[in-house]
This record gives sequence, C-alpha cells and structure tokens, in this order.
Amino acid sequence: MTQTGMAKGPSDQKTLNEELIEGLAEVARRNPQHAVELFGVPLGVAMRLAAMPDAQLDDLATTPVALWRPALTERLVRRLPEHRPMLIPDHEMWRPLVKRINRLALATFVRYADDPASAALVCDITDREVIRALQELPAFAFLEWGGNPGTLLAVPRLSDAIIDRLLRADDDGVESSLRGLLALTQCCEQEFALIRHAVQQESAAYRVAERTPVGKRCGRPPASFLMPGTSSLILTMLRHQMRPTEVEERMLATSDVRAAQLRGIAETVNPKPKRDKGAPRDRTRDHRDLWGSAHRRLSATAIFCLQRRLVDAGVEAFEAMVWAYDYYARTYDADCGVSLSRMLRDVFTPMREGTDTHLGHCARCGVVHLAHDEKIGIIECPVCVLARAGKFGQRRVRTDKGDGGDAAGMREFGAWPRAGTWSPASGVVGSAGSS
Ligand SMILES: [Zn+2]
Repeated sequence: MTQTGMAKGPSDQKTLNEELIEGLAEVARRNPQHAVELFGVPLGVAMRLAAMPDAQLDDLATTPVALWRPALTERLVRRLPEHRPMLIPDHEMWRPLVKRINRLALATFVRYADDPASAALVCDITDREVIRALQELPAFAFLEWGGNPGTLLAVPRLSDAIIDRLLRADDDGVESSLRGLLALTQCCEQEFALIRHAVQQESAAYRVAERTPVGKRCGRPPASFLMPGTSSLILTMLRHQMRPTEVEERMLATSDVRAAQLRGIAETVNPKPKRDKGAPRDRTRDHRDLWGSAHRRLSATAIFCLQRRLVDAGVEAFEAMVWAYDYYARTYDADCGVSLSRMLRDVFTPMREGTDTHLGHCARCGVVHLAHDEKIGIIECPVCVLARAGKFGQRRVRTDKGDGGDAAGMREFGAWPRAGTWSPASGVVGSAGSS
C-alpha cells in the first residue's frame, strides 16, 4: 500500500466524478434516454441532472469519494485493443465523449492496479483477474484504446435518494466530508444482500474453525523475528493509539510479540504529553461511545465498507479492518472520533462472533449502516438522523411515481462480483502490509 497513492486517492476520485457527471449531464440534456442506456442511471436521475444548475453539479462532482464504480470484466480489459461498435448503434455519436471518460478511467485504474489494496480502496476493483489484466496493459493503452470499447469503463453510482441527500437547498450545501461519508456507505439492496451474506458466512466459518486457545503466559518466548507484513500491521495499530497489551492480545494467535516489546515503540510513534502529577488520565479517546453519535456511527460504517472491499480483494478480515481504518484516518479524517480500538472491539469482534453489531439498510437514503441491538433508539439510519439535523439534504416527496425502494433504481450491473468472490478469503494480498 503506497502512501502517495493513498494520499492522491480522493483527488483522483473527484477528477473522475467531474468527468462522468459532466458527460452524463451533457448527454442527458440532449437525449435523456441515451443517458439512461449509456450511463446506466434511472431516467429520473438523468432528467434531474440535465436540469441541474452548474453549481449543484459541481457540488456533486467535488465529493471526495468516488460516485462511480468500475464497469470492468477481465474479458473487457483484454479486448481493449479491438475497436468495437457501440452497444446501441445510435450511441456512435457519443464515442468521443465515451473516449474522454474512458481515458481518464483507464489511467486511474491502471495506476492503482499496481497495488491491489489501493485498487480496492480507491477504485473498488477487487477482482484479481481484472487487476492482473490491468497490470498487463501496455503504457499507451489509456491514450490509444479509450475509444475502443463500445461501453463506459466507469459508470456513475447515483440514485434519486443519493442526490437528495447530497444536495441541500440552501446556499452552503452539504459539507464535503459528509458527502464523502455518504458516498462510501451508499449501497443498493443487491449490494446490501451480498455484504450481509458475506459477513454471515465469515462469522459462521469463524465459529466452526478450531482455534487453539492461546495462553498468554505459557512460557512462550517473546518474538525475535517478525515477518514484514506482521510488523507493519503492529506498527499501524500502535500508530492508531492501540495499547501494547491490546496489540499483544489481538496478535496472540498469529505471533509471539509481547506487550513488553512494544512499549518502547508505542511511546516513540505516539509520544504522550506528560501528565501533571495527580491529574486525571486522559481517557477521552477510548471512552467515546461509537454508538452515541450519528456522525461517529456513519464514520464507523464507512470504515466497515472499506474493510469489505479489502476482504473482497482477498485480505484477511482482521488485517483488512486495520488497513481500512488506517486508510480512512490518513486519507479523510484523522480525528474522526472513532478509534481503531473501538472499531475492533465494537464492530469487528462482535460481528465476527455473531453476537451483536448488525447491519441495516436504509432505502430512504440508499446506505448501509451499523446498528447496535441494546442501544435503543439508535437503530435508525445515521444519515436520516443527520438529515433531520440539517446536515444532509431532505428527501423530495415524489407523487408522479412510486417512491418506494428508491435505491433499487440503481441498476444491477453484469460485472458484479459473483457470490464466490465473497467467500472468506483464500489468499492474502501480499502488498497490503507496507506503509
Ligand atoms: Zn436513512
């Protein structure tokens, strides 16, 4: 995982947002039906974008998280050298526009394909065959072949529900970081079903797996050598303020590292200001209740969604959570109010053990969200809560057509991961570990 790649992530995502939304609006203004066919958006979305003032289009496009998803299959990437007719002959007129978008999409995908973890986190490309095909493209591919396929290589992920929430009628619009959180958690019903199924399978496999109870003080010698992947995982946990004892506990099953060995390192990576004698310990970070605020719950969900991408790309679930947290904290919000420790304790562990932390899906907002059984009154979608507080846009009331499961307006896409790729990871992406 390259740090530079990650830092650039949001601006690359934004650039492609801009290109796609501009292209979509352009086609929609001239022929809404073409926009539907070419971009795979519902007609309502196409018409809405066609009529949208530039300022609002800009607002959408500058969301610092992808409002698109790749529309790639391995076969499609392998066949890029062939010039193919547009799927619908009438669309030939749009080839220059498609080429413009595809060039940018290809350039982005190829850059991140170098590192499968970044490809998953930034581009949502998790299929190993697709990644390999991208890696094997010649350097000139994005310049020469963008106009070749008769389809778009990236398509917008926009539904009426998402647009309603992303835009607010008054002058200052929805805050960019909140737009990012919404984009990260957006999820149609089919995607939600896949995520829930995958989590349930993982949890079942975890309960079945025989785990030798690891005794903490059973005379094991402390670790004298750690694999590079393990040590960077440990360093990342320490950097995100996990206590050495906590790290030791988390790593017991896989490594012999001891808390005593980590204390010095922890103090170096994370120096604490000296506490005055008698002053109370600063426990604020650890004691912030993840479930206590809608904003924190939404951040936690976003991190969870990033973790699912990594798991889908083959990263082991626990490591995936650490890397997803690290990516989120470093790329978007270092002070997001959710600590890594909390993420592991309140979300990862209970979910894996099947004891708590459930997934909800809000059809009103088109997002997935984390819920806690025992905390009454917080099962509600955090986006709805924040929208009521004026942080997100309000849902428009539509009487012209059914406004039921609006998120379902997002079309199912043929290149979606087959159910098989959601099973517990069989291999680990080797490069996921460095930082
Ligand atoms: Zn909602």
